[in-house]
Amino acid sequence: MKKATALVLPSELVEDRFWTKVNMEGDCWLWTGTQRASDGIGVFGYDGKIVYAHRFAYVVSLGPLPPRFEVRRSCMNTLCVRPSHLLLIPKGKKAKIDITYFPGAVGDYLM
Ligand SMILES: [Zn+2]
Repeated sequence: MKKATALVLPSELVEDRFWTKVNMEGDCWLWTGTQRASDGIGVFGYDGKIVYAHRFAYVVSLGPLPPRFEVRRSCMNTLCVRPSHLLLIPKGKKAKIDITYFPGAVGDYLM
């Protein structure tokens, strides 16, 4: 199995390219770039890799991802990459996401 690699912080140029693919007109900022065929999740290519668009948005806006955490969306909108809708959740807690609970609890998950 391929070992997971940490996201390398992208250059401003790459960041600019990313945000041109985002529609910021609504409350949710919707990814308009490539979507993974199997489940419709937004993906973005840079540095020779394909990464999840919402993870990329998190890293460039809010900071590096600590190990054993994943990025989820409080709005539950698959294509949303708005930083204020992105939450760090410990891995393995997928089944317990409750949108009324997490917004106020975000800080608890930031290191
Ligand atoms: Zn959203």
